[in-house]
Amino acid sequence: MSEEAEHHKCLIIGSGPAGYTAAIYAARADMKPVLYQGEEPGGQLMITTDVENYPGYPQGIKGPEMMEEFKQQAERFNTDVRFGFVTSVDFSSLPHKVVVDNKITMTADAVIISTGASANWLGLESEMRLRDSGGGVSACAVCDGFFYKGQDVALVGGGDSACEEATYLSKLCSKVSVIVRKDHFRASKIMQARVLENDKIEVLFNHETQEVLGEDGVEGVRLLNNKTNEETEIAVTGFFVAIGHKPNTDIFKEWLDTDDVGYIVHKPDSSATNIEGVFVSGDAADSVYRQAVTAAGTGCMAALDAERYLTDKGLH
Ligand code: NDP
Repeated sequence: MSEEAEHHKCLIIGSGPAGYTAAIYAARADMKPVLYQGEEPGGQLMITTDVENYPGYPQGIKGPEMMEEFKQQAERFNTDVRFGFVTSVDFSSLPHKVVVDNKITMTADAVIISTGASANWLGLESEMRLRDSGGGVSACAVCDGFFYKGQDVALVGGGDSACEEATYLSKLCSKVSVIVRKDHFRASKIMQARVLENDKIEVLFNHETQEVLGEDGVEGVRLLNNKTNEETEIAVTGFFVAIGHKPNTDIFKEWLDTDDVGYIVHKPDSSATNIEGVFVSGDAADSVYRQAVTAAGTGCMAALDAERYLTDKGLH
């Protein structure tokens, strides 16, 4: 740890909708928040093209533009927004210690964790290219399903998310092909049944994605049947990936209670964690809703909880 040790009342880790909303509330409450943007400033919305479901944008907005507006709103009230990645924390005593970029140590009375989660991807070159160009590859059916109304789409995965998203897509799309690598689902029986009984969904068990086809937009998927070694192509205009998410919480696990997957556990109806003065918001604690608007809502909760905590402790 270095010699420098700045002290702050409120330190926010992460710069998605949760972190910036926490910053807006904390700054307006005069908590003088410092926000570290992390490795991917702006978070998951930076790889989202059109956001049409965030209230207040009747014409929709590009994900990166929306995050720039969040940032500007936080800075308008003097949030100190900084580049930097929090590499470790020490929550063993008060004030909490936070190390940035493995070299700068600072202390904080209240820490708000908004480090989000990352969708898992197959890792195919074609998948990444069409994802990054907004060409029709998505990890969020609720966000992007609407763009494929009346069209044929494919979705990879065999868990509860895959079944839930396939069912959601079947209400909008003409056909949903679900690509499952094993000969069975991992999902719960009830979720499987909904998929298997749905006329608009075709399940392709024992199939693996070889390539997402199309130059500027998705045109199809090349599949391998891993039982017969037969290759086939299906024509689709959207390709959805639902193979799980990973919460960005590794550095907190030594201190904070998490579930089996790593999502941080908070107290009921509160953003408080098991460590006093440490609050969590957004997808780092949410395996269920995972929406920008729900992340923003919990960012607000974390700032209000932090403000009450600091007031009760006589620190604010
Ligand atoms: P899971 O980890 O449960 O499932 C991931 C699925 O993706 C598995 O079928 C897995 O296949 C498949 N997969 C992983 N990697 C690849 C790959 N490289 N290629 C092809 N397929 C792959 O994640 P979920 O997001 O579905 O669920 C996370 C948690 O959230 C679970 O506990 C789930 O129960 C819960 N959840 C509950 C819901 C509800 O109850 N309403 C809704 C959504 C989620 P394999 O089986 O072969 O390993």
